[in-house]
Amino acid sequence: MNIHEYQAKQILAKYGVAVPKGKIAFTPAEAEEAAREFLADGNGVCVVKAQIHAGGRGKAGGVKLAKSKDEAANIARELLGKTLVTHQTGPQGKEVKKVYVEEGCGIARELYLGFVVDRSTQRVAVMASSEGGVEIEEVAERSPEKILKEFIDPAVGLQAFQARKLAFGLGIDKALVGKAVKFMTALYNAFVASDCSMAEINPLVVTKGGDIIALDAKMSFDDNALFRHKDIEGMRDLDEEDPKEVAASRFNLNYVALDGTIGCMVNGAGLAMATMDMI
Ligand code: ADP
Ligand code: MG
Repeated sequence: MNIHEYQAKQILAKYGVAVPKGKIAFTPAEAEEAAREFLADGNGVCVVKAQIHAGGRGKAGGVKLAKSKDEAANIARELLGKTLVTHQTGPQGKEVKKVYVEEGCGIARELYLGFVVDRSTQRVAVMASSEGGVEIEEVAERSPEKILKEFIDPAVGLQAFQARKLAFGLGIDKALVGKAVKFMTALYNAFVASDCSMAEINPLVVTKGGDIIALDAKMSFDDNALFRHKDIEGMRDLDEEDPKEVAASRFNLNYVALDGTIGCMVNGAGLAMATMDMI
């Protein structure tokens, strides 16, 4: 199961991961109200971000800076109800039903940090890269040497020396390495405690003020563990899912909607692959 950025940031904050202050808004008036708050006690800039289950929003015009509450309201008016097409949504795009208004951040560097369950090593793998803000797949393709990796022994969890190694590898200033270690440890704790399959911070930002914070957050959860996370299950947004798949999930059916009028309903990985081949 996937959740929105604002929901992921709520979860991360609970575990002590540094995130900017933000508020969800369903109307331009709510966006204006949130902007008023953040413009008053921030650096005079706030950001209005479309909330859809897809990345690439920035490039598609779904993340915009506002310097006044009126500007924030206007951006919200423009985004709400709009179908945003990003490289992750497919050509049909996704309708924006809510926006996240967040305090603006003075960015010094944009990095990448991702945790994922790695099946081959049976461990949680951490990937970090100094090439933040871009697609990690692109970096992996172009310059795989720029992706640093650590594998975490589940018996002892993420070790401080591993986090330090990543921090130094990212070229994080010596004075900030402690903050980076704290950030990674908190993110790892959130990942394990929430039964995540993936948690991606892109960009992880070093601010001009010398802080290390998550400017974006994407989390996916192991569906088989959701029964023990009612709060996370409650974050499911059916609007973001294929209605056919939602209907099937009500009956515990493994159903994957494909293009056009084709869907695949199977009960095993081998059968699924064979069926896909036949389709
Ligand atoms: P997406 O990955 O969907 O494009 P992000 O949340 O990563 O969306 O935002 C895209 C870019 O917008 C970031 O790389 C960053 O440069 C900028 N940005 C996002 N949030 C903020 C913020 N709170 N303050 C300043 N800039 C931001
Ligand atoms: Mg991003």
